Amino acid sequence: MWALVKTRPAAGLELCEVPRPEIGINDVLIQVRKTGICGTDLHIESWDPWAARTIRTPLILGHEFVGEIVEVGSNVSDFHPGDLVSGEGHVVCGRCRHCLAGRRHLCANSIGLGVGRDGAFAEYVALPMTNVWHHGPGIDEEVAAIFDPFGNAVHTALAFPVLGEDVLVSGAGPIGLMATAVVRHAGARFIVVSEPNAYRRELAGRMGATLVVDPLARDLHDVQAELGMVEGFDVALEMSGNAAALRSAIANMAHGGGVAILGIPTGEIPIDVNEIVFKMLTLRGIYGREMYETWYKMTVMLQSGLDIRPVITHRFPFREYEAAFAAARSGDSGKVIMNWQG
Ligand code: NAD
Ligand code: ZN
Repeated sequence: MWALVKTRPAAGLELCEVPRPEIGINDVLIQVRKTGICGTDLHIESWDPWAARTIRTPLILGHEFVGEIVEVGSNVSDFHPGDLVSGEGHVVCGRCRHCLAGRRHLCANSIGLGVGRDGAFAEYVALPMTNVWHHGPGIDEEVAAIFDPFGNAVHTALAFPVLGEDVLVSGAGPIGLMATAVVRHAGARFIVVSEPNAYRRELAGRMGATLVVDPLARDLHDVQAELGMVEGFDVALEMSGNAAALRSAIANMAHGGGVAILGIPTGEIPIDVNEIVFKMLTLRGIYGREMYETWYKMTVMLQSGLDIRPVITHRFPFREYEAAFAAARSGDSGKVIMNWQG
């Protein structure tokens, strides 16, 4: 099969012919149809310090995908050839305290698809049945391909109640854009999206933002005044990984507010803890998705009218992976899809 492989510990990727993955009795084999490119894939492609520390080569990249089951192990009864599925990218241990208690998203030993084991940028991918999500009827196939980052957006957006609340979204990358649509769907009043990139600010408007702002040009206190807000944001979603963005969010929170932090900073971020104490803020880290409550919420919100399709801006056949990665890296893009059929 064709697969996009990090063959050696250096920058770059190679499209290689490799053997199809073998499956065990509890696994399913999935023929991949479409995949999404994530920031993680860009880190691995460019071989930055995180990738050099984390990745063992050779490795097939990719964890955002949709595909069709073509084979199931002898112990698998709930999945069948022909099913349209995506995969939860965290393969958990099943034996730690949290796994045993059914809190699998808190597993401390999880292995990442396309990070710690061969991923989905290939014509076939194998996964344990416990990592497979069967798509409900009526789910658009391109949207199904990005359930993984959509899940990050939903997990973060629903970390605090947003009905009737004023929400700040810092960073309008693909995940911040989807989170904007989710908090709009979930009934927020004002949604302010802060993003330095003009292309992404325009997309944020289409995803349901009340107001989009360039943080390099305008202070959030000024934005609050324009909207007639008096007490600050009730909820902030940190989706940039940027130090200034987190500090600005904390400085603009209402008393008792909640800050959900998904963005991954490249280094330490100094913050004024006085603001957290005296405003009685809750800061909550978000990693991955809840298995499988977030997946359920994604499905039913789509079935009840949530539309995240505007976030998908570029589509390429897998053989044009270099152009696909360049589009994702440019910043002038939402989600970039690679097609693995044909
Ligand atoms: P992305 O890099 O495409 O988006 C980040 C956006 O933040 C960019 O558009 C950038 O222009 C913007 N930004 C930069 N400086 C800013 C500032 N000062 N104020 C506001 N915005 C600013 O990333 P993405 O794929 O949308 O993911 C969002 C973040 O979540 C990234 O940091 C990513 O690494 C992280 N992430 C975390 C998890 C998790 O499980 N915790 C999973 C996936 C991604
Ligand atoms: Zn575990």
